[in-house]
Amino acid sequence: MSLGVCGQDVFIEGLGVDSGARCQHWSSLVDIVAQRYPCCGRWFACFQCHKALAGHAAERWSAAAFATEAIYCGAGKHLLTISAYLQSQDQCSQCGAAFNPGCREHRALYFTEATHHV
Ligand SMILES: [Zn+2]
Ligand SMILES: [Zn+2]
Ligand SMILES: [Zn+2]
Repeated sequence: MSLGVCGQDVFIEGLGVDSGARCQHWSSLVDIVAQRYPCCGRWFACFQCHKALAGHAAERWSAAAFATEAIYCGAGKHLLTISAYLQSQDQCSQCGAAFNPGCREHRALYFTEATHHV
């Protein structure tokens, strides 16, 4: 699924990805976040999609890279930095869209420094 954002195309890979960056693993109304991965620079709808399609183990973002725009908001069709995402209270800091609160439990899969806050 190729999704336009800020004039550039973000190609989000995953199983059954829709225009809101949902996938077959996470398909509720609030599952609208996709992530870029530091290991390959590719975007996936979720870590399970990366596991299924990337062909290599996922790496996590280190704290030094938290200024990277590695989060895609499927509601507002824009990018967020990792730090903005981590500081948001289960909603998008730019467009206010609700994010799945359950994503918090998976932060350690994506971000090394987030391990202590889950
Ligand atoms: Zn990867
Ligand atoms: Zn998925
Ligand atoms: Zn947004």
